[in-house]
Amino acid sequence: MSRRAADCIFCRIVRGEAPSFRVHEDALTLAFLDIAPVSDGHVLVIPRAHFENLFEVTPDVVAAVAVSSRRVAHALRAELAPDGLAVAQLNGEAAGQTVFHYHMHLIPRRHGDGFVFHGRAPGKPERLRELAAALCERIRTAG
Ligand code: 5GP
Ligand code: ZN
Repeated sequence: MSRRAADCIFCRIVRGEAPSFRVHEDALTLAFLDIAPVSDGHVLVIPRAHFENLFEVTPDVVAAVAVSSRRVAHALRAELAPDGLAVAQLNGEAAGQTVFHYHMHLIPRRHGDGFVFHGRAPGKPERLRELAAALCERIRTAG
């Protein structure tokens, strides 16, 4: 997986060159559904600008990602009523990072769900589309 912004998949999503099911966006960040969800409602929150990891990202951007994550978390809880919500962020191959554009994972959890970090299969497009629309609407109406 490339570490350069020029051929980064998340930069391509930000530019609209690659598809994604967006659930929230603002001046500094973008949130969209993970293509291979660990659970229903697995969202990634990213900065629009390319930073490889927590060591490179600037304080204002890390704060903006946290604020967006909180908004999306409320929408996920309202929409899916999970038992819990895991928020995780990996830095470097040794930590399991596979896309080298800083991002936060929001993963709805259920009791006894047998959590593993990466999903094994692509999400069903109909479900991703339906869920992205529901979360967008919740975030819009939450103000
Ligand atoms: P990491 O392992 O770097 O923390 O997580 C990368 C995440 O990005 C994985 O959960 C993976 O499923 C997701 N992902 C990789 N490529 C794409 C893509 O093109 N679109 C979307 N929506 N998610 C992606
Ligand atoms: Zn990037």
